[in-house]
Amino acid sequence: MKEKKRRIFTIQKHSASHLHYDFRLEMGGVLKSWAIPKGPSLDPSVKRLAVLVDDHEIAYADFEGVIEEGSYGAGPVLVWDMGDYEYMPASKGGDDPMVSFMAGKIEFILHGHRLKGRFVLLRLKGQEKNWLLIKGKDELAAPDRDIVSEETRSVLSKRSLEEMKEKERMGSLKTYRCGKDVH
Ligand code: MN
Repeated sequence: MKEKKRRIFTIQKHSASHLHYDFRLEMGGVLKSWAIPKGPSLDPSVKRLAVLVDDHEIAYADFEGVIEEGSYGAGPVLVWDMGDYEYMPASKGGDDPMVSFMAGKIEFILHGHRLKGRFVLLRLKGQEKNWLLIKGKDELAAPDRDIVSEETRSVLSKRSLEEMKEKERMGSLKTYRCGKDVH
């Protein structure tokens, strides 16, 4: 059997003017991105608003640092989860997630540190930017858990947003990129 193509997914916890989780899936040569104010849920009965935002380049997937004051999205960013995903093709779509993106329904299996198993992103009818992220019903669903309260730190550096802000204030923050501290 042919190995399914694995693509990157990442979730960056970002404390800008409002705290949110940037959920990004690699497709069409970029990271398609949604801002999720409440973060993901492991409960299949919970629908989390996911607002489509600008595409990001794939190299941004493991960016961690503090976006400087005065820039768009100023505030700390940490990698809350990262891994790859298996796209579950729409009936006639072949192996191109962009087909499902355009159709407004993307089904996939996440292989992250914290998020695993089936999920779906659904565009709300008649809307362009408002989608819902929903956990699929599988053995990895966990309706009793509150994953965003349980897990607050970076999966890469183990830092919290508060620690990053403090380190930045002290001038000792290292920005994490491509698995390495860059400065
Ligand atoms: Mn953001």
